[in-house]
Amino acid sequence: MQVRVLGCSGAIAKGCRTTSFLVDSDLLVDAGTGVGDLTLDEMAAIDDVVLTHSHLDHIAALPLMLDAVGSRRTRPLRVHALRATIEALRAHVFNNVIWPDFESIPSLEAPFVTFHDIAVGQVLALGSREPKRIEVLPAVHTVPACGFAIRRADGGPHWVFSGDTERNAPFWERVNALDVAMLVIETAFSSREQVLAERSLHLSPAVLADELAQIEPGKRYPIYITHTKPAETEEIMSQIEVLAARQVAGLAERDIRWLKADGVLTF
Ligand SMILES: [Zn+2]
Ligand SMILES: [Zn+2]
Repeated sequence: MQVRVLGCSGAIAKGCRTTSFLVDSDLLVDAGTGVGDLTLDEMAAIDDVVLTHSHLDHIAALPLMLDAVGSRRTRPLRVHALRATIEALRAHVFNNVIWPDFESIPSLEAPFVTFHDIAVGQVLALGSREPKRIEVLPAVHTVPACGFAIRRADGGPHWVFSGDTERNAPFWERVNALDVAMLVIETAFSSREQVLAERSLHLSPAVLADELAQIEPGKRYPIYITHTKPAETEEIMSQIEVLAARQVAGLAERDIRWLKADGVLTF
């Protein structure tokens, strides 16, 4: 399985794109602005999209992508998300005001997109060319949200993505029960903005440490930090390093890296 990082920034700027991952060639995880780097053929080859939540930085490219490749595809693009996320997309994006209702275009019988409800705890079997098992993980955010644990359908370790979240004990309970190849976890704000992080239900370095301290002893896997604001990335990463150097529980002796866009994670 291969995960191509299309976007992993908490905002846009030159060279910074928002959250989106291409898993193998057929599954998209979130549809932030990173999708715009795909060719038409690459976009048209995606059969399923799973969304963590309705925030714009995770869905911005979905309407544009449907417009770009809907007519090149022979089947609707299947979008899988929590019921509340789908309702938000229908009400606020695909409402024939912001963007056309592609659930009925070009026809109700053969639309560009279909929406499919998912729920936390559910396990999906997706991947038209490269079958995958996708478990929907809990997240704690200002809107209903989730994370994902994805592995090949025939076995192997999981790629785990937290989505946007704050403190989340049920997430660790589940992750500790899985064979994890790598964890991608958000840290959207620096310690300086810890109050804002708490209000917007995102992580900051000290809370990240508390969270990682819940990883079962003996479990070792690389941890990639995502969703850093472009203006704060260096500050966030150096604060994590300082806490790690002080042997703060959760960060000491962990393999923590900043997630780079354009990279490919293979396992
Ligand atoms: Zn969010
Ligand atoms: Zn976000």
